[in-house]
Amino acid sequence: MTQPFEKVRALTGMKDILPHESAAWESLEEIVREWLALYGYRNMRTPVLEHTRLFARGIGEVTDIVEKEMYSFRDSLNGEQLTMRPEFTAGMVRATIEHNLLYDRPQRVYCMGPVFRHERPQRGRYRQFHQIDVEALGFTGPDVDAELIVMLARLWQQLGLKDVRLELNSLGQADERAAHRQALVEHLEKHIDVLDEEARRRMHTNPLRVLDTKNPAMQEMADSAPRLFDFLGAESRAHFDGVCTRLQEAGIEYRLNPRLVRGLDYYNLTVFEWVTDRLGAQGTVCGGGRYDGLLELLGGKPAPAVGFAIGMERLLDLWQQSGELPAAVECDVYMVHQGEEAQRKASLLAEELRNVGLRVVVHAGSTGFKSQFKRADASGATVALIIGQDELTSGQVSVKWLRRQDDEARPQQETLPFGDVAETLKTRM
Ligand code: ATP
Ligand code: MG
Repeated sequence: MTQPFEKVRALTGMKDILPHESAAWESLEEIVREWLALYGYRNMRTPVLEHTRLFARGIGEVTDIVEKEMYSFRDSLNGEQLTMRPEFTAGMVRATIEHNLLYDRPQRVYCMGPVFRHERPQRGRYRQFHQIDVEALGFTGPDVDAELIVMLARLWQQLGLKDVRLELNSLGQADERAAHRQALVEHLEKHIDVLDEEARRRMHTNPLRVLDTKNPAMQEMADSAPRLFDFLGAESRAHFDGVCTRLQEAGIEYRLNPRLVRGLDYYNLTVFEWVTDRLGAQGTVCGGGRYDGLLELLGGKPAPAVGFAIGMERLLDLWQQSGELPAAVECDVYMVHQGEEAQRKASLLAEELRNVGLRVVVHAGSTGFKSQFKRADASGATVALIIGQDELTSGQVSVKWLRRQDDEARPQQETLPFGDVAETLKTRM
């Protein structure tokens, strides 16, 4: 006798995207691909699994992701230490180095797909989530930094998003950060009594990240800390001003946020985030910046780079709120029929309609007209075509408009000769 099987559920924080939700995902992906093509970005697809040390090095040992969020395991077949990608940048940079993509020209590339982080699930925070990751490799900026931001503003506008704000900062260069770091560590030491355990642990390894805290008890200490922005030299300031000037010329508003650090050691110069109050606690839709040191850090020839990652779940949530999300429609035409001969005729006619690009569902299953019309309505189809004995005899299909395409005063119900249906519907829809 077979053992009863205990139902298996999806893993915590890992969501199924169901048919009624996937239309929004597919529309978004299509819009995103076209938007990226407008700026000359090309798709790149890197593996979900990479060597753990790629992320440890590329993201930084002393970061939330590497310290506690990675899905890592030992490959039982060869003992290698592997990690499910928690972000795209490290893998994209690895691929760029491995395939020598920068040998004769810079590259504009993007990836889109799932990433994995072991976090506490809540609205806007999952363990498998999706990112659109865009990287401009081999450009020194500030023109490309500004272009990336302008590009994002276009996407928000195209999606009809409201209330997304840009926060901007500059992290300067390594020597400027070193000078600031010394002042910052002194400040942290002076306020050691308000630091939480994590902050104490990080104050000597990654003090900037301490300022990125969400702990309310540490806000005052963070607010009064020396600002990296004040340590920037002339060149770094000029780069930052170059970005700001271009944003102003493009009519994009921003706020200088000296607390914005994005924590990682290799980030330099421009960093930015797009934030909103419409998503509850997880208000960052997109984060990015310049990371001129990363290619060299990962064993490549030194080359500048700048990029960003968008969280797709948060973007979809916002898009939904904008009210401009397209409706999830199963088909354009739903075919209702009665009797075997009519069913066969319907199937053949459906192929003709598909030849002109219409999306068609031929009813299958229960036979009653009433239940067929119910299904037709639920499918979101614009029109139902009806074939019964009368239609077979007259050679005319009955057409029932379920949703109007225009305001033209057309009868809700009409008949069309079999041979004309495809062309007529094509021009009217
Ligand atoms: P947060 O401060 O929210 O943890 P982060 O700095 O870890 O964000 P990034 O690594 O910059 O985030 O990732 C880029 C974007 O991916 C974020 O701005 C956000 O929109 C999205 N994101 C990050 N973590 C998650 C998650 N666990 N679930 C869903 N989306 C996420
Ligand atoms: Mg995080």
